[in-house]
Amino acid sequence: MKSIVRTDVGRVRKQNEDSVYAADAQRLFAVADGMGGHRAGEVASSMAVEALRARLQARQPDLRLMRQAFEEANLRISCAAEKDERLQGMGTTMTALWQTERSVLIAHVGDSRVYLLRGGRLRQVTDDHSVVAELLRCGLITPQEARRHPYRNVITRSLGSAPTVEVDLLEREREPGDLWLLCTDGLSNMLTDREMEALLVSLSPQKAADALMQKALEAGGTDNITLILAWNDGEVIP
Ligand code: CA
Repeated sequence: MKSIVRTDVGRVRKQNEDSVYAADAQRLFAVADGMGGHRAGEVASSMAVEALRARLQARQPDLRLMRQAFEEANLRISCAAEKDERLQGMGTTMTALWQTERSVLIAHVGDSRVYLLRGGRLRQVTDDHSVVAELLRCGLITPQEARRHPYRNVITRSLGSAPTVEVDLLEREREPGDLWLLCTDGLSNMLTDREMEALLVSLSPQKAADALMQKALEAGGTDNITLILAWNDGEVIP
């Protein structure tokens, strides 16, 4: 596969606590969004992608392996937080995509997202593990209210916050021309799905990646912003 990675500290935060992993040859990609005071978020998100890399490197795509990697990342982060009080309370999201010959495997915890652009439509593939997403699913708030909700940054699942974690595992058939977007909430909170779609359908992946980043910064850049675009070589016009 081919991929483009963009990450930016944004306009408000002092540190970039997002981590990213992109291995084109292995067709494996991940984003992680860390939280916790004084650089702890950065530690948590980098531990998560490192655990994923170490566990899945040189292996064949497999959802059980992905779940093991997530569980291992969870244990490593929660143990590290127990041992060092400066790291107490740290945690991270992680969302990973691994392409096989026929399908795409996704493992996911938190509110980072996978989107698929297919047939000119951008659709969110993962469910957010957040208070706002739960309220939306129950029909208690509208999408408009969700964007301004005081709890919009509160996630209900993360790696590192408890000794065990439930990992969402998904498999999707793939089609020629699919374009995958992985991102942290620093992008998806700044732009609507339709705004992202408009850029992705009208620009090459390289230009779209730059435009997504630029628009997120222009919209305020209140959080760290990370995105990966991934596609199959020759299927999407570069
Ligand atoms: Ca974030």
